[in-house]
Parts: sequence; C-alpha cells; structure tokens
Amino acid sequence: MQAASQRDGEPMKKYVYPFAEGNVRMRDLLGGKGANLCEMTRLGLPVPPGFVITTEACNYYARNQKFPPGLKTQLSEALTKIERKAGKRFGDVKEPLLLSVRSGSKFSMPGMMDTVLNIGLNDETVQTLARMTGSERFALDAYRRLISMFGRIVKGIDGKKFESILDIYKAKTVGGKDTDLDAAALKAIIVEYKALYRKAVGSDFPSSPGEQLDQAIVAVFKSWTGQRAVDYRNIKGIPHDLGTAANIQAMVFGNIGTDSATGVGFTRDPGIGIKEFFAEYLTNAQGEDVVAGIRTPKPISELRKEMPRAYAQLRKVTAQLEKHYRDIQDFEFTIERGRLFMLQTRTGQRTGIAALRIAVDMVHEKLITRDEAIMRVNPGQHIPQILAPIFDRADKDKALSEGRLLAKGIAAGPGAASGRVMFTATAAIKAASEGPVILVREETSPDDVKGMHASKGVLTGRGGQTSHAAVVARGSGIPTIVGCEAIRVDEGSASFVAAGKTVKEGDDVSIDGFTGEVLLGRIDTKPSEILQVLRGGISKKDSELYRYWDEFMGWTDRVRKLGVRANADVPEDAKNAMLFGAEGIGLCRTEHMFFAEERLPFMQEMIIADNEVDRRRALSKLLPFQREDFKGLFREMEGHSVTIRTLDPPLHEFLPKTKEDAETLSRKIGVPVEKILTKSNELHEFNPMLGHRGCRLGITYPEITEMQAEAIISAACELKKEGVKVMPEIMIPLVGFVSELVDQKKVVDETARRTMAKYGVKLDYKVGTMIEVPRAAVTAGEIAKVAEFFSFGTNDLTQMALGFSRDDSGKFTRVYLDKSILKTDPFESLDQIGVGELVKMATESGRRGRRNLKVGICGEHGGDPSSIEFCHEIGLDYVSCSPFRVPVARLAAAQANLRSKGVADRGV
Ligand code: PEP
Ligand code: MG
Repeated sequence: MQAASQRDGEPMKKYVYPFAEGNVRMRDLLGGKGANLCEMTRLGLPVPPGFVITTEACNYYARNQKFPPGLKTQLSEALTKIERKAGKRFGDVKEPLLLSVRSGSKFSMPGMMDTVLNIGLNDETVQTLARMTGSERFALDAYRRLISMFGRIVKGIDGKKFESILDIYKAKTVGGKDTDLDAAALKAIIVEYKALYRKAVGSDFPSSPGEQLDQAIVAVFKSWTGQRAVDYRNIKGIPHDLGTAANIQAMVFGNIGTDSATGVGFTRDPGIGIKEFFAEYLTNAQGEDVVAGIRTPKPISELRKEMPRAYAQLRKVTAQLEKHYRDIQDFEFTIERGRLFMLQTRTGQRTGIAALRIAVDMVHEKLITRDEAIMRVNPGQHIPQILAPIFDRADKDKALSEGRLLAKGIAAGPGAASGRVMFTATAAIKAASEGPVILVREETSPDDVKGMHASKGVLTGRGGQTSHAAVVARGSGIPTIVGCEAIRVDEGSASFVAAGKTVKEGDDVSIDGFTGEVLLGRIDTKPSEILQVLRGGISKKDSELYRYWDEFMGWTDRVRKLGVRANADVPEDAKNAMLFGAEGIGLCRTEHMFFAEERLPFMQEMIIADNEVDRRRALSKLLPFQREDFKGLFREMEGHSVTIRTLDPPLHEFLPKTKEDAETLSRKIGVPVEKILTKSNELHEFNPMLGHRGCRLGITYPEITEMQAEAIISAACELKKEGVKVMPEIMIPLVGFVSELVDQKKVVDETARRTMAKYGVKLDYKVGTMIEVPRAAVTAGEIAKVAEFFSFGTNDLTQMALGFSRDDSGKFTRVYLDKSILKTDPFESLDQIGVGELVKMATESGRRGRRNLKVGICGEHGGDPSSIEFCHEIGLDYVSCSPFRVPVARLAAAQANLRSKGVADRGV
C-alpha cells in the first residue's frame, strides 16, 4: 500500500484518492461509483471535482467506530484541491463550496445506501448562495433539502415527518408541486424542519460545514451495515465484508432554474436491449428527485428541444462512454445553467432479453468479440428470464375485449404476471406463500426490496424507467410496470382506482411487463416466444428474439468442451430437452414410469407378492409399458446416448398410505386389505432414505432388474430393426461395493444376451454406475474396471458426504446461510471443497482404472452454473440437468471454458 504522508515516523495508509488518481480497475478499493468517477475524470469528461474515501476506511470504521489515523489529514488535503479547482472554499461565507457525499460499493446496490447533498449550507452560506446564483428560492430549496436529508440519513429521523411538512406547504400553492413553493414558503419550511430536527435529535441542526461533512461520511459508512443493504446483499449474494467507499464531490445544481435539469439514462434500452438512447430528466430538480420516483420524469427527446446544446453534448459524452467501456452504460447527469456535468456512469443492469440482444448487437458492431459476448449473458439469471412464460395472446385479447384493461404505464421489466394485489412489502411477503402476488405501490422505496422479490410482478403509480422499482425489478427479472399514473393508489384503504374500477387487496390483476398494460383478473400464460418457435407455433422468420437466441446459442456450442444432456423420464421431457439443445439423456429415472394410473396396480402387485413366481407374473404385466416408454425415449433421442437407471426408490413409495387407498387396491388386485397395509408398514422407510433402495432392490429382487433390462434391450432391438439408431446405457444406482455392480451387471448382460438372441439383433449397449455413495467414490478405480461409465449422483453424494438428509436440511439451511456457516445451499450448488473433491478423486482414479471412461454428473448440480464450471475444470465429459436448464448449462459450460482461457467477464 502506498504511503500517503508521514506521521510520527509511521507510514500512513492512503485512504483518500482525488478523482485524478484513481481508475476503473480500482473497484475493490474505491467502489464502482468512485472508480468510474475517476475514470471519467481521466477521460477528460465534465465531472465536478472530488475525491473518494476508500472501502478500507469504511471497514476500519466498522471495526473501531472511529476514522482510521491519518484520514482527517488526507481529507483536508483533498478538500483543498477541490477548492482550488472550483475556485470556492468549503465553509467560506463569501464564496462557499458545497459538497455531496455519496456511497458506492464494488457492486451496484441501487438505492440501498445513502447520499447527502448540499453539505456546507447554513444560515449564512445560504444567503451567499442566493446572492451568487441570483435566486433566493433556489438557495432556500437546497437548504431545506440538506436539513431533511441530513436529518433522515445521518440522524435517522423518519422521512415522512419532513414529507408531511412539505406536503402542507405544497397544498397551499396553485400548482401543488415542490417547484411551486416560493421563497417565503421555503423559509417557513426551513423553520419547521429545524424545529423537527431539534425535537427529534435533542440538539440544533449543525451549522458547522466541517461537522456536517464528518457526520455525513460516518452515515455513509454505517449505511453499509443498515438492514436494507444487508437484505439486498443476501438476496444478490454480495459478500458483507466489502465495505462501501464515500465519494465527496463539489455540488452542481440542476435546480437553479428552468435552464437547469437533472437526469438519468442508459445508452441502450435496458428492458429489451434495442440500440436506442434511453434517458429521462426533470427540469429544475435535484438528482434524487428522478430516481426516487417522486415526480414522473420527462423523456429525453424533450431535452433536445429544451436545451439542444446540453443534449448534443450528453449524446456525445454517453456515446464515448459506451465505446470506452464497451458495454451499456447507466449514467446520471446534471445540467447547471445550460452546462452539462456527468455525475456517474456504470455498467447498466439489464433484463435477460436485453442482455442477449446487446451482446449479439455489440459483436456485429465490432465493439466486443464473440467470446466476450458469451460472458455478458448470465446463465443462471438471464436465460430463465428469456425462457419465462408470456401471456397467452388469445386470453389477453379476450380480457381486452371484455373491457378489463385498467391502465397503461411504463413497461419497465418484461414478462407476464398474474396474481393477487398487495399494497405493502410485508403483506406481499406474507401472501406469497399462498400463491402469486402483485405488489402495487404508489412509489417504491428501497425498504420494499424484500417484498418485490417475494412478488411475481410490481406495479407503481409514479416513477420512471430508472426509479428504484424499475432498476431493482429489472436486475431480478420481475415483470414490472412503473409510472402508471392512471391508477390512484390509496395505501390507507389498501385499494387502487383505475378506469372507474376499485381494486382491493386480494383481487386478481395481470401485468404485462412488455407493453405496460394492467388488466383486471388473471390471464393464462403461454411458453416463452423462444419455446413457441422451437415447437413450431411461431415461425422463425417472425421472431427477432429467436434469431438472436439462435445465433448466440450457436456461439456457445462452438466454445464449450462439456457435453450437455438432460434428465428426462418421459418422451415429452426428452422432446423439450432436444429442442433446447440436449445431446442425450443423462438420467431417466424409471420409477416415474410406474406411477401412471394403469401401471401402478401391477407395480403394487409385484411389491406385495411374497414369492418370485407371483412377482414375475406382475412384472411381466409391466414389461410392455416399460418397453413402449423406452421406445418413445429412444425415438426422440435418435442417435444420442440415453442413460436409463434401474429402479431406485424404496418400495413403500409405491404402496397406499391410507386405509381407503388400500381398500381400492385390494378390490383391484384381490389381495386382502390387511396384507397390503402390513406390507406397507413393513417396507416403510424414513429419511434420509438409505435403506432398501438403489441396487439393493435389484440385488434382493433380481427379477426387477431383469424385467427392466429386457424392456430396454427389446425396445432398442425393435427400433434398430426399424432402422432407428439407438444407444442405450443402463445405469445401476447407489453402488458402494464393486461386487454390487458385478451382481447387477451379470443380470443385465445375461438378459441382454437372451433378448438380442430372441430378436436376432446385435446391439451396442453399455452398463455403468452412478457414483453417489462415498465408498464408491473412494473405490472408483476398482469400480471402473466393471463400470463402462460413471455418472455422479451428487444429490445423494451430498446427502451422504455431508450427513445432511436431503429432505430435512431445509430446516436449518436458512440459518446456516444467514450465519455464513454455509455460503450456498450444498444441494443447489456443489460443495466443491468437500463433495467436489470426492468427484474429482473418483474421476481421476476411475480413469486410471479404465482409460476413456465416460464421466458425467446427473444430480441437480448439473444445471447450476458454478457447479458446471467445476465439472469443466475437473474434466468431466458432460453434465445432465432438467430440460429447461439445458440452455443454462450450454452457456455456463461455454463460459467455464472461456474463463479457463482467461477471457474477462467485462469490457473494461
Ligand atoms: C442423485 O442422487 O444425485 C440422483 C441423480 O439420483 P436421485 O436424485 O434420483 O436420488
Ligand atoms: Mg440418487
């Protein structure tokens, strides 16, 4: 670490970076906002002078409840530099410099932390400001904002108390807006604000600029550990130990008059990704007014007419920023008396659809490479958003023709959602456990973030595309409509009125986040546009989105090394898997085939039978069903491997649980009720279900394995005769001892030989095993001598390696995550250090036992991006996951390969 200055012979850490001394690569230390302000300064863009106090200083404060040694000295040195640049002095009565203090951590946390503006104003400097700007109204407005912001953020006074004073005075004006308040009204407001402050805090509002500054910095540091910031980080998986930087900057004012403005925007549309300059602004306003959604801002096209020069400069600067960063930028600007200032730029959060489109467009624009484009789409977040259901056109048209359109707002987060209306975040969280919820708010505040995440959709009466509601929802893929001024929300009576109708808490509404339409009642949904094209319902040429998808997914396939298969039990799932690009079936859980109504009684008969003859009789009735199932699967997967697992779950799962069900079965199969219930009790097992299941079933009842092997091989023979290319792989579950596999392989091979002879067909088939018992992982070298392939069943392997029952761990996992005992749920994301080590070790020793051993994974982790990256790193051949996760896995596998080759995630 650089030594900033010397004190008592001790080198001091550098805690303060003037903008000219930092750059965009210093996000860890300076936070995202700070690093970008530095970068913009270096690019020579119009940024008001300032400096950044590092995240290390914040972390020091969190540990010691005081500033680190040397910070104050460095701060005053940096302040002197700003004063020189601005030609004004902080606290000076003649020419006062005013400052803003803004938080900014490494990762963007929109609206989660705190900002204090107009620091340096007091009863004296406010008068000078009025004289300097020639506007007393403006100076007083800035002062009242400081008192309320400082009171709220630094002293924790309820913001509503300031709001209600303001509302009383606004109501007395003709226009009713904050801009209609005159100097006399503002003076009176300031007197009331100060009284409120004194009453709440017990002392006067501090008139000393230095004291204001110090306290604001402390408040920014403390906001890192505030509840809503902690909640947000938990939701987004952002580490809690990063700390926030504090950015101190000379104030520029968008609220001096009608030649001043403030706004925010994106260099492209962050909702659907089209290349269209996308910004909003408010004339005569200060920054927070736009993002807080207090007034609905104006579209940027009006700025072009109102302030053409500033508009042209804004276009130029933002285009330069996008080119420099080579990614969509989300920026904030202020125009002070016609002069443009940039206050922020950062990588724009975008929806899945926008991410896809922007990545592909930027390749065509030669801004980024294909490899970089692949890194720009998030597999776990963006792909599920792109594949989320949309409204059924016919049902929506019907709703429209029935006059159920309530209102139209700004479409801020694409997607379709129907649900019951709730008016507070708390109510939404509570109701969400009983079905889908739409959160309706007049405007959202950062405290609503948990409620938004619990909801299927968000609707607000005020705010623009860049309000907190829009930014948070877009980042999380929640369908959202904002600025829907046609609805009047009355949170007190938990209702809203629109199109003459009153919608109360609990009523159903539907929101279309693509169009901004709000409709009464529920609307049916349809599969995503992509799936409709894949299924042939929409033609390829009619779907621009599909063309982007197809091009992009093609790139991922060329890059990845890992194969991607699907877990599919029935032909319908296999079909979806193929449409999504699966290259085979990695796991067919055959037990699911026995639950269908016409088969279950035969299965039950087989289980209840107390001798082999009866068992075989029942099994022979199941055989034709199984054969047809497998033929269906093989047909769908023509030319690809299909891995079929022999029966796995404990048998009680198939038996009736209640007396009534036992009676029904008794009538069907002619076995006494008592016998059925006795057998059911006898077989009953408990979590973690490690008793009579897996290969243990096939070993005790070889005729089950025999029937399944016969069904598989006969299905394959029949299809081969028809000229269909089949590649069956028979997989034995829950093996821990090689001798178990030897036993089952013998049954399979003998049955296969017999069946092939019967059909007069010669088939290539393989017999392999799941590795899901730790003993199997440890003895993998020996097992590989018998197994022709391995597939890691990481659900059971996690259960057994961790000693966490997979069906009971939910009871404590949340607490483990909150206490950071676990970083992620090990059943969702592979415990790479523990379970992953078993997988790695077994793969290595398995391949030593058999060269070219094919190794895959078929536990839930096969669809989890970070686990997929791990599978790539340890050299597995494929991952297998549920059909809808196949595109997630294709992208994650491509990213894993690129990352291992050092392709960076972001442009700059
Ligand atoms: C596993 O254990 O990971 C697996 C795929 O098998 P199942 O989930 O059916 O136990
Ligand atoms: Mg298993």
